[in-house]
Amino acid sequence: MANKNHKIVTRFAPSPSGFLHIGGARTALFNWLFTRGRGGKFLLRIEDTDQKRSTKEAIEAIIGGLTWLGIDWDDEVYFQSRFDQRHREVAETLLRLGKAYKCYTTPEELDQMRRKARAAGQPMGYDGRWRDRDPAEAPEGVNPVIRLKTGQKNVTTIKDAVQGAVTVPNDQLDDMVLLRSDGTPTYMLSVVVDDHDMAITHVIRGDDHLTNSFRQTQLYKALDWTPPTFAHIPLIHGPDGAKLSKRHGALGIEAYRELGYLPEALRNYLSKLGWGYQDHEVFSSRQAMEWFTLEGIGKGPARFDLKKLENLNGIYIRSAEDSHLASKCRPFLEKELRRPLSDKERIRFLKAMPGLKERAKTLIELARNASFYFADRPLSLTEKAEQLFDDDGQELLRRLIPALKEEPSWEEQALLDRVKRFAEKAGVKLGMVAGPLRAALTGSHISPSVFEVMAVLGKEQSLARIEEQAH
Ligand code: GLU
Repeated sequence: MANKNHKIVTRFAPSPSGFLHIGGARTALFNWLFTRGRGGKFLLRIEDTDQKRSTKEAIEAIIGGLTWLGIDWDDEVYFQSRFDQRHREVAETLLRLGKAYKCYTTPEELDQMRRKARAAGQPMGYDGRWRDRDPAEAPEGVNPVIRLKTGQKNVTTIKDAVQGAVTVPNDQLDDMVLLRSDGTPTYMLSVVVDDHDMAITHVIRGDDHLTNSFRQTQLYKALDWTPPTFAHIPLIHGPDGAKLSKRHGALGIEAYRELGYLPEALRNYLSKLGWGYQDHEVFSSRQAMEWFTLEGIGKGPARFDLKKLENLNGIYIRSAEDSHLASKCRPFLEKELRRPLSDKERIRFLKAMPGLKERAKTLIELARNASFYFADRPLSLTEKAEQLFDDDGQELLRRLIPALKEEPSWEEQALLDRVKRFAEKAGVKLGMVAGPLRAALTGSHISPSVFEVMAVLGKEQSLARIEEQAH
């Protein structure tokens, strides 16, 4: 699987121990934008080696979340656990080459080391006691772990595409475990072997992995493999600058779907979390693919702001095609109505879309605003709508009915003209008629243009609603 033609290959490598959260989705998105804009290959590798913590639900949530978000990958979904044997073989090879060794340190000894390090105010590091020791001295009954023999001299430098050159002295990197005492490979080993075998050219991931990449670089060196380009993206914070948490509205991706966000709006929003191009705010993923560079990723933490996402979603709703919006919103509307829409109602919904989409920030809001179109008669009126039915309002509506009955076209403009003429003749302002009319037709004092509402409802339904209220 060597990378002969220098094609860009990236991967998203989530551990399926939790749901796909905002940070993970953004990592996947950055990989996808970067790769798709360069004709490369983007892979999905589920890192399920920790069988105890991996769940089927989490795997489904990751795949479902990416699919809903519109992020596609090449090849089948890879599961890291399938390459277990290969990981073990690589560890054995390193052992044979003398680049790794068996370590028989007991848990008690490790505990001692930990305590000593803590007392000295230092991070826990294995002291290398079995590095050069004769395995013949191995104690009875202790299953060894296999550790990498880390070079202790010099420094390790990563030329990170986002963070720049980052260096650590090698004596700060202890000999990491490659195979646990039960023979299972560690994350550090598996990730390096898989990235190499899959010919990954760029590892783009959260900067909580930056320190791991020093050790991983050591492993690449020991194996005589070329490391990929690393790009560590700063974490996401809440609007108050603290690390992002549920308190900030950070939820699993599926929650954003349920809250009525459009995937294209969420993609746009997530792409701006830590990256940007000039001062563009609203752009398609196609444009983002064209503009995206690793150098364009900011070094500081990005701030997640639900209000901004909501506003952007509103912009996307307003500019979306009516039919696209109607099909995305229908499940929300049917949930609101607690019944499916009939074919006739679906047509009505589509017809109502131009007015509805002007004032909704989420699909939930859109569905809620649309529900009056499908309400059963008699409509229940809000308190404010009731207030529009004083004696004058009632009287005006009663007189309006015959005038409306005469209207043959039932188009928005014609209805407006007709009601205007009626108001002039009655010597009242248009609003005096439009208010009670709106209340009768929608049950509310706010709605799209009342003439649009009448046109969407049709003559029969409109008159029935008006007659019912104007008794
Ligand atoms: N599986 C790791 C995680 O979910 C990511 C590994 C990587 O991207 O190198 O945090």
